[in-house]
Amino acid sequence: MTVVEPKQGTERDPAENAEVQSPEQRERDETFMRAALAEADRAYAIREVPVGCVMVDPEGVIVSRGSNLREASKDPTAHAEMFAIRAASEALGTFRLDRLTAYVTLEPCPMCAGALVLGRVGRVVYGCSDPKAGAVDTLFGIGRTPALNHRFAVTAGVLEVECAERLKRFFAELRASGKKG
Ligand SMILES: [Zn+2]
Repeated sequence: MTVVEPKQGTERDPAENAEVQSPEQRERDETFMRAALAEADRAYAIREVPVGCVMVDPEGVIVSRGSNLREASKDPTAHAEMFAIRAASEALGTFRLDRLTAYVTLEPCPMCAGALVLGRVGRVVYGCSDPKAGAVDTLFGIGRTPALNHRFAVTAGVLEVECAERLKRFFAELRASGKKG
């Protein structure tokens, strides 16, 4: 489990930083992250960057799933989280997803972190951080900053190694096949 320190200059509610993970919560988080990893594997199987997402309600029911489909759909917004957010809103009949936790294998990008804010998602759990586009902790504090009208709880580093390994393998294979990533 990675403890993500707040960046210099970004204000965070101390109560939010003091997230204490019970063994049960951790086990639950890993269970749902495995479901998100299964979505990442669906993307990998069709040569998409392997990122997956599931949205889970407080009763532990997976409300929606999404996997990255950027190449197949030729759509720059076809990220795993966007599919999962839209499907959750459709399933629940509301844009307010405050009861849901989003499990995503990679730290959300600015677009997806923004969409999670717009959906008022209650909690975001991600696997590995994204040094190039991570917008929750790495590059920005979307979902954490009080500058926006909604904040979500964040847990980072759940099954971090498994999540990162899939991406590493994908890009290594892409390089080996002579294509540009
Ligand atoms: Zn994204």
